[in-house]
Amino acid sequence: MANTEDNLFKNVISHSKEYGFIFPSSEIYDGLSAVYDYGQNGAELKNNIKEYWWKFMTLLHDNIVGIDAAIFMHPTTWKASGHVDAFNDPMIDNKDSKKRYRADQLIEGVIEKLEEKIEKEVEKAAKRFENFDRAMFVSTNPRVVEYQKKIDEINTRLKDAMANNDMAAMKQLIDDLEIADPISGTKNWTDVRQFNLMFSTEMGSVADDANKIYLRPETAQGIFVNFLNVQKTGRMKIPFGIAQIGKAFRNEIVARQFIFRMREFEQMEMQFFVKPGEEMKWYEFWKAKRLKWHQALGLGTDNYRYHDHLNLAHYANAACDIQFNFPMGFRELEGIHSRTDFDLKSHEKFSGKKLQYFDSEDNQNYIPYVVETSVGLDRMFLSVLASSYKEEKLEDGSERVVLKIPAPLAPNKVAILPLMKKDGLPEKAHEIMNLLKFDFRCFYEEKDAIGKRYRRQDAIGTPYCITVDHQTLQDNTVTIRNRDTMKQERVAISEVKAIISESVSMAELLKTI
Ligand code: ATP
Repeated sequence: MANTEDNLFKNVISHSKEYGFIFPSSEIYDGLSAVYDYGQNGAELKNNIKEYWWKFMTLLHDNIVGIDAAIFMHPTTWKASGHVDAFNDPMIDNKDSKKRYRADQLIEGVIEKLEEKIEKEVEKAAKRFENFDRAMFVSTNPRVVEYQKKIDEINTRLKDAMANNDMAAMKQLIDDLEIADPISGTKNWTDVRQFNLMFSTEMGSVADDANKIYLRPETAQGIFVNFLNVQKTGRMKIPFGIAQIGKAFRNEIVARQFIFRMREFEQMEMQFFVKPGEEMKWYEFWKAKRLKWHQALGLGTDNYRYHDHLNLAHYANAACDIQFNFPMGFRELEGIHSRTDFDLKSHEKFSGKKLQYFDSEDNQNYIPYVVETSVGLDRMFLSVLASSYKEEKLEDGSERVVLKIPAPLAPNKVAILPLMKKDGLPEKAHEIMNLLKFDFRCFYEEKDAIGKRYRRQDAIGTPYCITVDHQTLQDNTVTIRNRDTMKQERVAISEVKAIISESVSMAELLKTI
């Protein structure tokens, strides 16, 4: 990470704590690794992101319904889904720094560096030649061809090692690539071992292996086991989707990037059940739809890109990520997976219950295929927070930190600020708040100079500030200040609602998708 990006990330983290968005969990006991609490503003922003997703899925698609399944599930669920046997990450320790890493990520780091080298060569050449042909350049330039060959070779070895569960081969690859620990600088590694990411606990009062249950590592399985319940009671016809927002838990080996990788997090997942053979059409459909949903937030279309998976999970026949340009670079924000009939078929086998759909048009029973969209709520939060965070130099030489959060997602829509704490101004301000509070989340504040109060609202991302002054008492007008332009306008109180409504409206945002 470049130094400035590093600083930016640090500033975003400290800002989010200072302004009540995110606190380390149980901070008075020095926190708990990779677990975070959302504060008063964070909880509002998070709820608004959930609303944006939930309404998109369940209001804009009349064939998608939402459920809320329990976190605890019958333990056989996780046998059937493959998580007990295969939800592992390869880990390795450096004996000198005592730090633990994901072996595959150390290897992928080498690939990323080689890819960066290729990009540098391409950029240099693009500057030198007019009518630069990228495809031609990368297939003929000897240095680039050499880098690409190396990438392909590493990729193949990594893929084989993962597919064959061959940890010795993975260790050999780390040795051959001469990967050193970024902290100790040494190559003094332990062997690579598989590590299951599921948390377990006991259900009931007797601690016994038979009572062992898991905290769900993904929300999807709660949808699969309810597939027939929903299909039958909702009279759903294929193609249809089931959406869910909920907590998931993973005992991540390396969890050092704030809320990007947590041990307790939230997912927003939708499983779309389709006729076998039609899954690729729907996979492409959801890939495009989901990207549009992200881009409609206006955080910059260039900040998103697709990343197709070469190494497919055991259940998938196609998969891609929507990556976001986080402060530490492009990383996965959402996964879109064509999961075939793997899950339903496997639940059928383990439960002995039929999980099939009767297609009355074709007069046949089948196990549907599934296309899944899965986005991390906390990663969404980070994408919104990090890209909204701006340190601005103003014309008068002063500086401000402002969160340019898309207005419909902002924790507070409007702050109501009496200029002074006397002369009936607070009473008038409360009167206005009582008018607006049914439509918008309002924030009232009367302490400190007005400039300071504006800055505080900028830092929280409040799109509008309304100032109540002595003139308000005479003619029922207020000044309304726009967070982004900082322009102030004098308007009648009766106009305020209309001015604010459109830009903060979730419905208007949804209409742009
Ligand atoms: P990664 O490769 O980053 O570990 P993944 O491919 O394991 O992610 P999925 O199993 O596809 O992730 O989960 C779907 C989504 O859930 C991810 O796109 C991400 O947004 C979110 N997610 C997964 N793991 C975490 C985590 N530990 N903390 C926060 N969000 C997560």
